[in-house]
Amino acid sequence: MSDARSSTAIATTAIAEPRATGRFAPSPTGPLHLGSLVAAVGSYLDARHHPGGHWLLRIEDLDTARNLQGAEHSILEALAVFGLRHDGAIERQSARLAHYEAAMSRLAADGLLFHCGCTRREISAAGLGDEPRCVADCRQRRLAATGTALRLRLEGLDAHEVLDRSGRRIRFDPRIQTDVVIRRRDGVIAYQLAVVVDDAAQGVTDVVRGGDLLSATGWQLALQQALRLPTPRYLHLPVVTEPDGAKLAKSRRSVPLDAAMAPALLWRALQLLGQSPPEALRPAALPRIWDWALAHWDPAAASRRQQVVA
Ligand code: GLU
Repeated sequence: MSDARSSTAIATTAIAEPRATGRFAPSPTGPLHLGSLVAAVGSYLDARHHPGGHWLLRIEDLDTARNLQGAEHSILEALAVFGLRHDGAIERQSARLAHYEAAMSRLAADGLLFHCGCTRREISAAGLGDEPRCVADCRQRRLAATGTALRLRLEGLDAHEVLDRSGRRIRFDPRIQTDVVIRRRDGVIAYQLAVVVDDAAQGVTDVVRGGDLLSATGWQLALQQALRLPTPRYLHLPVVTEPDGAKLAKSRRSVPLDAAMAPALLWRALQLLGQSPPEALRPAALPRIWDWALAHWDPAAASRRQQVVA
C-alpha cells in the first residue's frame, strides 16, 4: 500500500520565478520634476506590485560637468516625501569606476574597441546624420588613448531585436547603428556602458523608464551581447511634455516639486501613467493613494501613450 502510494505520488518542486527587481536611476542634474516623478512612480509600482519585488535606487552621477550641487540630496528628499522607499544601499556610479574599467578590459581583449579622434565639429561637418559616429579611419589607425574617445566596434556583433513589454520594437543592427562611445574624450564613462554593467550587477529584471530612452536601448542590447550579460525586460513610459509636445521646459525641470502637494502630484503622476485613479482618491492621503495604485497597477495602460502633457 505504502509502495503503491509512493509510486503514484507526484513530486512537486516549486520553480522559483526570479524576484522582480526594478530600479530608478536619476542623474543628479536637477531636482525631481513631474517627468522624473512619473518614471520613479512607474518603476516603483511595477517592482512593488509583485510580492517580494525589489526597487533599487542608483544615482547616475558620472557626467560631472552636468551634475548639480545639491541635486542628489533634493531628489532623495523628494523620494522620501512621496514614500518611495528603495531597497538596499544607494548605488552611485561614481563609486563603481573599477567595474566599468573591468568591462572595458573585457571588450578590449575581445577586440571590440577602438580609439576615435573625431571631434564633435568634424562629426557634424561630415553630415552623416544625427547619430554621433566615427567619420574618419580611426578604426585602422590605432590612436593613442589620450584625447580620443573609446568606441565599440559593432561589426563583430549580431543584429538582435527584442520587444519591450508594450510590444515596441527595440532593435540593434550593426549595419544601421553607429559605433557607440563608451568612454568619452574627456575620460567620462558613457551612460550606455555604465547602465548595462550596473543593471546586470544589480540583478535588475525590469527596466521601466521614460520612452525618451528607447533609442538608447538598441546600443544597450549591443553592449549586453558584447559583454555576454543578460537582457532585462523593458517597459517604456510616456514622456511628459509641454502642451506643444516639446521636452518639459528647463524652468519646470529645475523647480522642486512642492512637498505640500505630494498627494495631488502622486494622483497626477498616476493619471499620466494611464492608471485612471478615481476622482474620489484625489484629496486622499499618500498611503491610501499608494494602496490603490499598487492594487491596480496596469503596465499595459502605463505604456499605451508615448507622450503626455504635464
Ligand atoms: N540617468 C538617466 C536619466 O536620468 C536614466 C537612465 C535609465 O533609466 O536607464 O535620464
